[in-house]
Amino acid sequence: MAQSNHYDAIVIGGGPAGLTAGIYLSRARVKTLVLSEGTVGGQMVLTHEIANYPGVESINGYMLGNIMKNQAQRFGCDIKSNIGIERMELNGEQKQVLLSNGAIYSADALVLTPGGRSRTLGVPGEEDYKGKGISYCATCDGDFFTGKEIVVVGGGNSALEEAVSLTKYATKVTIVHQFDHFQAFEHAVEEARANPRINFVMESKVTAFYGGENLEAVDITDLKSGKVERFKTDGVFVFIGYVPNTEFLKGKLNLNKWGEIVVSSDMETSLPGVFAAGDAIAKRYRQVTTAVGDGTVAALAASNYIHQMKMKKKAPLENVLA
Ligand SMILES: Cc1cc2nc3c(=O)[nH]c(=O)nc-3n(C[C@H](O)[C@H](O)[C@H](O)COP(=O)(O)OP(=O)(O)OC[C@H]3O[C@@H](n4cnc5c(N)ncnc54)[C@H](O)[C@@H]3O)c2cc1C
Repeated sequence: MAQSNHYDAIVIGGGPAGLTAGIYLSRARVKTLVLSEGTVGGQMVLTHEIANYPGVESINGYMLGNIMKNQAQRFGCDIKSNIGIERMELNGEQKQVLLSNGAIYSADALVLTPGGRSRTLGVPGEEDYKGKGISYCATCDGDFFTGKEIVVVGGGNSALEEAVSLTKYATKVTIVHQFDHFQAFEHAVEEARANPRINFVMESKVTAFYGGENLEAVDITDLKSGKVERFKTDGVFVFIGYVPNTEFLKGKLNLNKWGEIVVSSDMETSLPGVFAAGDAIAKRYRQVTTAVGDGTVAALAASNYIHQMKMKKKAPLENVLA
């Protein structure tokens, strides 16, 4: 039997963007529910150390997520994680969310923070060495490879720009790319080619990862000859694209060609009362700090929207009495 529960705001996603929205909304006395399909903390739980969150010198990602969750709950925010969402109604004054257990929640405003995921190579060993030598984020993990020799996979702007930035730490960066040319802007290619710490293996793919406790080597397959070389390395950075978790929003609101949610500077989406924040929105830099910043803006804008809607509903009665 379906039960119906009304909130002022529902936040979809329990990563840093969603939890920050939960903190700000609840502290503003906006009755808020955070619904997350995954674990509270989002992508932060995938990293054992976050060393660039201001005010916290170094913290385990899972712990930072837990602190944010407790902080939101202290302000009265309801949080349900590891739930399944069956359907969402984003149009109209009342937004609705139907969970796979049959529960229905409604709200005046929604804040969408479903985050995203890096595209993976999908080759043997990749799952085993994620966070143990394989990384998808140079800003997050570059420092851990100081004085080491690493591989960068990819040939777009991210791959080339991040390869250059990784030479601040690594003594040697080998870029492995599947084509004979790069898809990056010419200036990015020139900068990478001019860097003495970078060398290139073209028309080749990383086809397997090997090691013990940590990554020690990769197989690099030459796509023209088919020859496979076992290549020793301390780490591999994979930059072959980013996938926002917005499949469930296709056709419902304005997404760009990469599936990212298009928002205004106040984090408004194309639908009234629906806001978005964090890694799922159209933006360039994806970090905990940027997610937290977006979550703050979305919460403040949503809070203002809810207040305006409530005032509007009250207005006719006040006019009659005046
Ligand atoms: C391995 C790794 C290491 C990183 N290290 C750092 C670092 O050191 N420093 C740093 O600043 N950043 C780091 N990042 C990046 C940082 O974690 C992200 O930028 C940040 O977590 C994005 O926050 P978010 O809230 O937008 O999304 P996410 O963290 O992705 O959270 C989104 C949440 O929404 C849930 N969700 C998805 N779809 C739905 C849906 N349809 N309905 C309900 N819930 C849904 C997900 O399960 C998830 O819990 C790292 C990322 C990774 C992968």
